[in-house]
Amino acid sequence: MSGRNYAIGVDIGGINIKTGLVEDSGHILYKRVVQARPEEAVQVILQEVMDLVGEIIKFAEEKGIRFRGIGIGAPGLIDSQEGIIRFLTNFPKWKDVPVGELFNKTFNLPIFIENDVRAAALGEHKFGAGRNKEHLICLAIGTGIGSGIIIDGQLLKGSRQFGGEVGHMTVLPDGPPCACGNRGCLEMMASARSVTRRAMEALSRQEETSLLKVYKEKGAITPEDVAQEASQGDPVSRRIYEETGQWLGIGVASLINIFNPEMVIIGGGVANAGELLLEPVRREVQDRAMPVLRDSVSIVLAELREEAGVIGAASMLF
Ligand SMILES: [Zn+2]
Repeated sequence: MSGRNYAIGVDIGGINIKTGLVEDSGHILYKRVVQARPEEAVQVILQEVMDLVGEIIKFAEEKGIRFRGIGIGAPGLIDSQEGIIRFLTNFPKWKDVPVGELFNKTFNLPIFIENDVRAAALGEHKFGAGRNKEHLICLAIGTGIGSGIIIDGQLLKGSRQFGGEVGHMTVLPDGPPCACGNRGCLEMMASARSVTRRAMEALSRQEETSLLKVYKEKGAITPEDVAQEASQGDPVSRRIYEETGQWLGIGVASLINIFNPEMVIIGGGVANAGELLLEPVRREVQDRAMPVLRDSVSIVLAELREEAGVIGAASMLF
């Protein structure tokens, strides 16, 4: 092959486990995906991931592609120095699993492991919206809110490597209780859960909204439904994204004041609503962040989308 470099990226998500052979241009050459089964025993899931990686290695060998190693991204608290998953979001049986050591024993290759949003931030930094930017904050707005903060071209980690839990900064002192033990955390006000909560509250107040029809048909409402109804002009759905974006903007304004990034990149499922979410975020930042800081930052959507996890994980080796 030509002078390109390659690495294997692994993205352990609560819904899918994805692996891919990634070129140092950010292009995925070959990809394998299986459905995640978070309730299974740790050993079963590990074996499944290793089998997937084995298939990627087989593909690479058949094509005569040499690769640098394996990068793994996973949601939760990851000790990237020791290669240990301390806590894996959505996988209740995972606690202090030495994934780095186990993979190294099996494959005898360099292994890097990192929180999935941090890995995605590295991916956006190298291949996505944040190319050529040295100071950026990447937020993933899903069930929760995760971040990857890159300052001076370096990923921020903190003393125990768990830094950047922006989803748990307090934005409303007496707000809804959060699983972390606090109340009114940003992720209780601006995540997928809060979009759904606002939709259900509107229904229980019997507000006039096309969400009622959706709820009657499906028995549930997702953030995608609310975005869909908003795009059809439903005022309640529009207001829900407006409110969610405002809360997110409150958090983002503080992050801009603290870190002085050039760019804030917003991804994750809720960001599929696009400008519906971003517009109120930008407005809130305009109102709240310090002028000199807000005038030099752009707030944009993530570019790598569903591939961010695999590309980001592999990018730790480039
Ligand atoms: Zn919290």
